This record gives sequence, structure tokens and C-alpha cells, in this order.
Amino acid sequence: MTLDGIKEEIKKAKKIVVLTHESPDGDAVGSSMAVFLALKNNNKDVDVIIPEMPRTFEFLPGVNEIKKESDVEKYDLAIALDCADIKRLNGFSAYFENAKRSIVIDHHSINSMFGHYNYVDPVAPATAQILCGILKYFGIEITKEIGTCLITGIITDTGGFKYSNVTADTFEIAASMLEKGVNISNIYERVMQTVTLSRFNLTKIAIDRLELLEEGKIAFTYITMEDEKKVNAEFGDHEGIVEQGRSIEGVLVSVFFRETEKGYKVSLRANNNSNVNVADICLIYGGGGHIKAAGCLMQYPLEIAKERIIEEIKRSIK
Ligand code: 5GP
Ligand code: MN
Repeated sequence: MTLDGIKEEIKKAKKIVVLTHESPDGDAVGSSMAVFLALKNNNKDVDVIIPEMPRTFEFLPGVNEIKKESDVEKYDLAIALDCADIKRLNGFSAYFENAKRSIVIDHHSINSMFGHYNYVDPVAPATAQILCGILKYFGIEITKEIGTCLITGIITDTGGFKYSNVTADTFEIAASMLEKGVNISNIYERVMQTVTLSRFNLTKIAIDRLELLEEGKIAFTYITMEDEKKVNAEFGDHEGIVEQGRSIEGVLVSVFFRETEKGYKVSLRANNNSNVNVADICLIYGGGGHIKAAGCLMQYPLEIAKERIIEEIKRSIK
């Protein structure tokens, strides 16, 4: 069985590296830190590499041990978390490919199964939730610190326990974390409610610009690199802007574009009462994600990129 194979590989490995996807979110960082701490607590020699991450997650235990880069030849086992494709490995695919053995643990249904061992559960709302089960199966203790990392991933990937992807397990895990003394209320406030002034101002610009299209079924907004400069935005400050459009009554799909050096980074969110699969739309443009939350990169001018995405959404709504 895959899990026993994974356990065996970890047991044998002398030097392990933990990797996650680019533009890491709470699930990416939380899952990475949880695996890092769990392996360290079990006397494994392990590095976690995250080159850039949002300040919001700096409270997580162990973050001062995160490496920004390392020696690519050094590892005999690589573990990729919350990452659907080797291309999204933070520019660190070489670490993954160079490692003698590799493990993928993820919850994206479109995962390309790029490891020697692939443990993918598309029904799980977060990679962190899958990890709760795996650590339990391995008999590794979920300490308060590890629990803090895992619940952070679960909270952020479920929009604070509210998306349709939550399962009965989600709440059972939350209950067991509370019993361990994990401060869920504090974590919730940090990752879901507290925003820096820059982030607030960036959101304000995007809200001012928000348009409702197709009789209010599609919300569209965007931010430019210039906007980010103007508000002194930090890495990750655009996260969550796409949710603003989704929360408007009658909106089925919310679209958010973020201008980057490489093109427009597209974020799509579908509402529970829509039957639009936004991952399918993003796949057309080389991206991916989940049925109700997905993204892609579009290398076209704003108006053209907008027109193409809106056209695809219109087609799916009908
Ligand atoms: P976000 O809109 O927050 O950037 O991403 C939402 C979801 O879509 C995440 O689960 C993320 O993994 C996925 N996603 C976002 N951008 C891309 C992309 O360019 N390629 C792929 N494959 N998935 C993406
Ligand atoms: Mn995730």
C-alpha cells in the first residue's frame, strides 16, 4: 500500500527535503511545517524550502528554520505537499528530480502523480487534513505545534470551515486539536480576519473596480503592478480579493486578475449554487485547481484575457 511504502522510504532516508507550490498559501505552508516538525521530532534530518511566503504565516512554529535555497544534490528523499504538478514546485523541481526517491501528498484531483509514491485524495479539503490521517497511521504524535500548522492549512483551504469541501473529519480534527490546546480562535483571527493596511487598501482598489457582468452572475475585478506599488503591497497581499466578488448575492463565478511580470494571474471562484467547474476553465489556459477554486496565467493584454475568460464562464453557466 502507498502509505506503507511512504513510511518505509522515510525510515530509510538519510536526508529529506520538503517542498511545496509557488505562491504558497496557508495549506502549503502549514502542511510543509507540519511535516518538517513531525520528521524532526522523529530524529530525521530534514530541510523545508519555501523561498517566499506571506507574512501572515510567520507565527507558525518552526518558520525560522525554513530555508530559501539549498544544495540540489544533497537529498535522498523529496516530499512535495499540496502541489498538483512538478512545474508548480516553486522553481525547485530539480530538488525533486535529483532526489533518489520522491513522495507526493496532495488533494488536487488533477494531480499529475509526479512522484515515485503518490498519495492524492481529491475529496480532502486540504492537504493538511490528509496529513492528519497519515501522521496518525504512522503513529507520529500530533503535538500542539504540529496541530497549529495543520489546522492553519485546514482553516485557509476551507475558508474558515465554511466551504462545501469540509467533511465530518474536518470538525473531528478541529475538536481533537482543541483538546491538545491548539488555539483555533487565535489562528482563525490571524489567518482569516487580520489584514495589513496595505492589503486593506489593495482590496479597496479591487472593490472599487469590481464590475458585475451577465446580469450579475459574473463578478470581475483586477489589480495592476502599479496598484501594488502604490499601497506598498507585500508578498501575498492579493490573497482573498477574489472572495469579495463571490460573496455578492447572485454571483455564480468571481474572477480576479493580478498583473505580474509574466502576465495576468487569474483566480476563479465558483459559488456552491453554480454548476461551473472553474478548474476545467483554467485547464484550457494551462492552469488548474479545484472545481470551485482554480487559477491560471494568461499572457495576453488585459482586455483580451478578460474577454476569453468571461466567454468560457458564460459557456459553462449556460
Ligand atoms: P488561487 O486563485 O488562490 O491562486 O488558486 C486557487 C487554486 O487554484 C489553488 O488550489 C491552486 O493550487 C490552483 N491554481 C492557481 N493557479 C494555478 C496555476 O497556474 N496552475 C495550476 N495548475 N493550478 C493553479
Ligand atoms: Mn491546498
